[in-house]
Amino acid sequence: MALRHPRGPGERGRDAAAADIFTSEMPRVPRHELPAHETRAEVVYQIVHDELMLDGNARLNLATFVSTHMDPWADKLMAETFDKNMIDKDEYPQTAAMEMRCVDMLSRLWHSPDAKKATGCSTTGSSEAAMLGGLALKRRWQKRRKAEGKPTDTPNLVTGINVQVCWDKFANYWDVEMRLVPMEGDRYHLSPEEAVKLCDENTIGVVVVMGSTFDGSFEDVKKTSELLDDLQKRTGLDIPIHVDGASGGFIAPFLDPDLEWDFRVPRVQSINASGHKYGLVYPGVGWAIWRDAEALPEDLIFWVNYLGDEMPTFALNFSRPGSQVVAQYYNFLRFGFAGYEREQGYARRVATYLSAAIEKMGPFELLTRGDELPVFAFKLKDEVRNFTVFDVSAALRERGWQVPAYTFPKNREDLAALRIVVRRGFSADVADMLLADLREKVKGLEKLKSPLYSAAGGAGFHH
Ligand SMILES: *Cc1c(COP(=O)(O)O)cnc(C)c1O
Repeated sequence: MALRHPRGPGERGRDAAAADIFTSEMPRVPRHELPAHETRAEVVYQIVHDELMLDGNARLNLATFVSTHMDPWADKLMAETFDKNMIDKDEYPQTAAMEMRCVDMLSRLWHSPDAKKATGCSTTGSSEAAMLGGLALKRRWQKRRKAEGKPTDTPNLVTGINVQVCWDKFANYWDVEMRLVPMEGDRYHLSPEEAVKLCDENTIGVVVVMGSTFDGSFEDVKKTSELLDDLQKRTGLDIPIHVDGASGGFIAPFLDPDLEWDFRVPRVQSINASGHKYGLVYPGVGWAIWRDAEALPEDLIFWVNYLGDEMPTFALNFSRPGSQVVAQYYNFLRFGFAGYEREQGYARRVATYLSAAIEKMGPFELLTRGDELPVFAFKLKDEVRNFTVFDVSAALRERGWQVPAYTFPKNREDLAALRIVVRRGFSADVADMLLADLREKVKGLEKLKSPLYSAAGGAGFHH
């Protein structure tokens, strides 16, 4: 005789709490309309979690500059601080103090002449920081023009055509004309000579990029500054520089300490960097730092209550999580100068190792080697006609690697390349797996009679 138990199969099936999520009534959720009823948290967790499996694996995403690995202690601190609002300086004075300490540390790292009066703030990323830096340049130019009794309706900003899209946004949103220096031959970033030729009395500043997103190369801040000094001697025009150090602001100080790209160059008035790129924090945190208080016009600043006192803020948004700033402060204490030097040095060694191995593979030619940012671009040799960089990108995607292929802008629209960003968590061991897959895929592609893809079909390019 079978054992009889009050919770036999029939009864058990009715106990929703005991049922397995997958085999019980896992609901089909409405995707575009707010559901009428509530659903148990663990069921919804599983539904959302499962859908996200279709996203690419962040660690295999060699397209992004943004951090995809932090250690468990950072994870813990971030989880503990999700509930803090960065703007509530009065309620969370210690989070506010940590933000200011980060500003102090970065001002010193970037050789601000008067770091005791460090001027700067955290942002959601380099895009917001670029907006703030650009706004300060525009406001200063307007003030000077007004004082001279001259018109202020046609400001322009000079950059290389390789600038990140945040500068196109800045120009569009704030009615500033973009004057772009095109690429030429094998020059894929700003030419200081050409930049100065585009400057006139309406130029609010020149943006020089420390770490071009196209190929990882550094632009020449010092040379640009020298040519602007010369322009000033000839014409009286005094044009400031903003350095977009989104990536390079956290690379050059540690790996190229003698390279003068920062506030050591007097013409550099402001610098932005992404804490969530080589600052090694998860998205989104960025930093905007001014040379000194004079570089940031006071009428752009708003004041919020802080311990009964007033605290200055400069930001595009109001509420924002405090956890990324806490994580940045954690990283600064955790790594210190030596730790960042070690992390970035390792990334650069892996990048140059990878680029050298890819160069030796045969069909590829390097545009850069990963010896500035740990980022390099490479193309197919001209004689390779039966497959394209887009085919290489798509083939690697089959193994989960996301390596973007993209075409270059004016005057090198003929050039299509692949780009690899090496960052924390991408070890030499993982690099070897990528190389093995690339070799294997190239062997297959070499048998093609004609290309499969002649435009981007694989991973997107993070421009
Ligand atoms: C990534 C990047 C930006 C934009 O930065 P976010 O932090 O993603 O907003 C701007 N400029 C350069 C050079 C970049 O690499």
